[in-house]
Amino acid sequence: MPSVRLVNVTKRYGEITAVEGINLEVEDGEYLCIIGPSGCGKTTLIKCISGIIEPTEGEIYIDGELMNGVPIQERGVGYVFQEIALFPHMDVYDNVSYGPRVKGWDASRMRRLVDEMLNMMALRDRMHDYPMELSGGARQKAAVARALSSGSLLLLLDEPLGALDVKVRIALRRELRRMVKELGLTAIHVTHDQEEAMAISDRIAVMRAGRIVEVGTPQDLYLNPRRLFTANFVGEANFMVGEVAGSSGGEVEVRVNGEPIYSVRSSLLSSGDVLDGGRVVAAIRPEFVVMEGTDGMNSGFGGLTDGCGASWGGRVRSEAFLGSMVRYEVEADNGVLVAVKLPSLSVGSGFRVGSRVTLTFPPRHVLLYPYPPEGLERAISIE
Ligand code: ADP
Ligand code: MG
Repeated sequence: MPSVRLVNVTKRYGEITAVEGINLEVEDGEYLCIIGPSGCGKTTLIKCISGIIEPTEGEIYIDGELMNGVPIQERGVGYVFQEIALFPHMDVYDNVSYGPRVKGWDASRMRRLVDEMLNMMALRDRMHDYPMELSGGARQKAAVARALSSGSLLLLLDEPLGALDVKVRIALRRELRRMVKELGLTAIHVTHDQEEAMAISDRIAVMRAGRIVEVGTPQDLYLNPRRLFTANFVGEANFMVGEVAGSSGGEVEVRVNGEPIYSVRSSLLSSGDVLDGGRVVAAIRPEFVVMEGTDGMNSGFGGLTDGCGASWGGRVRSEAFLGSMVRYEVEADNGVLVAVKLPSLSVGSGFRVGSRVTLTFPPRHVLLYPYPPEGLERAISIE
């Protein structure tokens, strides 16, 4: 049973600290994604787990056994790393069947698994091609198939679907998760695509500048991010700086440029932060803001306002059609620019640039954070 435990894993390259003090447990059978801005240490971390890189400090356990110093071929991992190509002198079939073959599986069992992999990856008609004859995408699919059929119970995947077209990527991530669950594998999957991470994982670890910021289920990270950085990095959020103006019955009132906004989600604050006048950041995702026209027209979510969210007047500044959603920017009368996303059925409904609207912020969707000592910009920056 391959569980993975990282204890204080740190990797330095001279002056550069690529990853620092990583503590993480991945359960047997879990699908975990690692996301984070470019250069934050994702590849370094997954290579430490595989044994390609030795950490400068810290311990790596697979299945409870200390792996420091154990070479990659003895760690029992199947992996897809960008620069580790397929065996160039073997065709797709031989590449994909390599693991079971060296493990001495009987021919029919091996064939069944390899056939299934080739079907799933739509590589059947390419199975006699050599890697150099394949497109980047087909090569990546063959590499994923090889990792899945390697017989390893722990899969380490670094951007395994990155070279594929969107449609294929979406279809394959579904298949990849299905196979991992069906075969009872454990997977650690690095991706820069947060939508992919949400769709495929049981849990997601968010990294920033060599450290893990937060670990949680996709829903947790989206609906209850404990850190401002996560709220900004996963999806989109409006951030409004304000001061606590009072609290009663679990509802906290915050004043943002003089206008009130209410939250029942102050659990992120410590009692000291809820003192009147305390500086906080209120965050709300654009699709949770309710927008109504001054002529009674509304965004269709009036029922979600809980009846008690404060309303701000404002004027639509811009409108962008995103396909399934329309994104508006509204300049509220208190000067705050608020992003609002509505399903595209609102197109043509009259929220035109320049029109007057009312914004309501349902208290259960307003998250409150203590104002970060380093400032809001730095707290959420992905640089
Ligand atoms: P990610 O995969 O998240 O983009 P990496 O793990 O590749 O990030 O890199 C993390 C940091 O470590 C970066 O600043 C990168 O420049 C640095 N780094 C990675 N590999 C090396 C190396 N071999 N030598 C020096 N610095 C490195
Ligand atoms: Mg990388």
